[in-house]
Amino acid sequence: MADLEPHPKVGQPGPVDTATGVASRIHETLRRPFTLYGTEFFITASLGVSLFPDPAEDARTLLKQADAAMYRAKQRAPGGTLLFPSGGEGGEDTASLATTLRAAVDRQDWALQYQPIVDLDTGKVVGAEALVRLRQPDGRLIPASDFIPLAEETGAIADIGDWVIASLLRQAAEWSARGLKLALSFNLSARQLWQPGALPTLLGKVSAAGVDPGSLIVEIAESTITRDPDRAQRALDQMSAAGLRLAIDDFGTGYLSLSRLRNLPVDVLKIDRRFIRNLPEDSDAASMVKAAVGLAASLSMQPLAEGIERPEQRNYLLGLKCRLGQGYLFGLPTLPEDLARFAVEEGFAPLPRR
Ligand code: C2E
Ligand code: MG
Ligand code: MG
Repeated sequence: MADLEPHPKVGQPGPVDTATGVASRIHETLRRPFTLYGTEFFITASLGVSLFPDPAEDARTLLKQADAAMYRAKQRAPGGTLLFPSGGEGGEDTASLATTLRAAVDRQDWALQYQPIVDLDTGKVVGAEALVRLRQPDGRLIPASDFIPLAEETGAIADIGDWVIASLLRQAAEWSARGLKLALSFNLSARQLWQPGALPTLLGKVSAAGVDPGSLIVEIAESTITRDPDRAQRALDQMSAAGLRLAIDDFGTGYLSLSRLRNLPVDVLKIDRRFIRNLPEDSDAASMVKAAVGLAASLSMQPLAEGIERPEQRNYLLGLKCRLGQGYLFGLPTLPEDLARFAVEEGFAPLPRR
């Protein structure tokens, strides 16, 4: 058993020995291979233990602490058991986030915000990116960056993704019926993309909603593609053949080869905001952005700059002939009714095709 804290009263079986004895029997049972549809499987478990009444004084705390210990076990001793308190920074924070996430999955308590994508030259809104938020019971919205990595790790991303797609398709149908024709982009993470049956399910939902697939842009991070380029290529080809448009997100942060990039059916190359942040002063960032814009143009893709916050950045990008952008300079991610109002006030136009 990995990393178990020693029991203070050595020599006599106490609650720690009892709990860890149960944990080791669970490990032992799970360690035995089992056969499913003729294939042999092995599984392991990471277990977290906490005790009542010390340190947990009530059932809620007991669960929270066991959750914290389990999360630390997954990180520090996968396949083992950890007892709370298991030490290390952020254990409790992560555990409370895990608990918050699980509760949100149960309640389906999500919100979808939309950030405008604009034509940097005319200022018109050409689309919007859907970004999911976790809604706290007190109404606060937690941004995706705080919980998506954990949702990926725990598998909750599958549920979240289903909700996001349903909500986005409802919104797309409603806006389109009102004449508000905007390209709506949404993010698909690796785990969602590789889920068996993910693409036929997605395509079925788009068609059932009566939404034009050409009005949707699927954003796949560069790192997702580099993780398994052949598989990604097949998935992207399949989505493109079904009429969906594609964007590579966070471009510049991974190691996508040029020969691969050239063959991907991608419309939009989203240049990561860490390069935009230091424009135009930082010459390294400027050369990187210049290269990415040139690359996009030569591959007939549209460069889009993420995270534009200052007018100098927009002007610099326009000078490079980068026409598309998003960022706080134009609009924060906002609830759908505010995005619709913004698009009507600023004017909207179709996103150019590659
Ligand atoms: P992303 O797709 O690259 O989204 C852009 C992120 O940058 C968003 O953070 C957005 O709020 C933030 N942002 C936009 N403009 C600015 C700016 O001018 N300055 C700064 N500092 N930040 C800006 P958010 O919403 O927290 O999302 C983080 C990441 O989580 C996203 O990165 C995306 O990878 C992922 N994500 C968001 N929604 C979903 C979803 O529905 N499904 C999946 N699988 N992933 C999602
Ligand atoms: Mg994105
Ligand atoms: Mg991005």
